[in-house]
Amino acid sequence: MDLLTIGAFSRASRLSPKALRLYDSLGLLTPAHVDEVSGYRFYRPDQLEQARLVAWLRRLGMPLARIGAVCDLARDAPDQAAQQVAAYWAETEAELAARRALANHLISYLSREEPVMPGTHPALAIRYAARSDIGRLRDRNQDTAYAGRRLLAVADGMGTGGDQASAAVIEALKPLEGVLPAGSLLNAMEDAVRQAGAAVRDLAAADPGTGSTLTAMLWSGSQLALVHVGDTRAYLLRDGELFQITHDHSVVQALLDEGKITPEEAESHPQRSLLLQAIDGGASAEPDVSLHDARAGDRYLLCSDGLTAVVPAGAIRDTLAAPGDPEQAVGRLIDLANQAGGPDNIACVVAEVVEPRP
Ligand code: MN
Repeated sequence: MDLLTIGAFSRASRLSPKALRLYDSLGLLTPAHVDEVSGYRFYRPDQLEQARLVAWLRRLGMPLARIGAVCDLARDAPDQAAQQVAAYWAETEAELAARRALANHLISYLSREEPVMPGTHPALAIRYAARSDIGRLRDRNQDTAYAGRRLLAVADGMGTGGDQASAAVIEALKPLEGVLPAGSLLNAMEDAVRQAGAAVRDLAAADPGTGSTLTAMLWSGSQLALVHVGDTRAYLLRDGELFQITHDHSVVQALLDEGKITPEEAESHPQRSLLLQAIDGGASAEPDVSLHDARAGDRYLLCSDGLTAVVPAGAIRDTLAAPGDPEQAVGRLIDLANQAGGPDNIACVVAEVVEPRP
């Protein structure tokens, strides 16, 4: 086999001769031959693959000692090499999360104010309540509802593992309750939806047909980031008017959009529950995302189709607009759905934007 000079090998591998000498001294890439007199290094063409692997791992930021271990495994046990890379990356992300938390703390400490999105008015607060109810006809509750300091979410599970799927989806979002993400709220939400997708894929592998919808909002102190997949919904009550701020990913909604059926026909359509998108074992969901500026007095409702299929929008508006706290609004909405027959599980989250107490 013809050997390559260090210059030729450097051009072919796109690694500088200086880097190649470093890898040699560290035992990561030993030349095939070193001329005793001149000290020139020579490489075999089949060493290019290992050179590239070393370069990639360096670009990943992996310490040199660990690169050596991965290269050793890559020859005989590539699966184990892959596991080593995965383990390294998991450690890196955990460390990054801790550094992000510290950076957020320092930013708010040095600016001597509550952490809010830059360039916005003083922080507002939210009051919230969440509940899911089995309804009157189903023997299991596959809906999950959650409300916390920052995160509001409903999920409607489907398939035999539907209850686990809706719970897993919301569980995957709960890390957002911690420190406000340093980057964009929407990116953080999209990342969390990807995590949720991975969790449901595991469930769906054991139980095909398992999946869940998701409608969730993340509160920053002045804005709400919304992510949405499926036919759970978000509504905003502002100045007495009710706005639906999500668009169902359902076959019936698509037919409505195309003008092929009327709203009346949609209500009793046999394929009402057929979804165009869900978080399930299939392709990654592409959530709708949007950012909403909060205003004191706004009320948000997140709910499953167990409410909207049987309670008209007018009654939802009146109930949300009625005096009382979010807990009472959630209770009244669930009562309305059950009075209308309660054919499906019902999940409701109500959040109200308020001026913080002095
Ligand atoms: Mn449902």
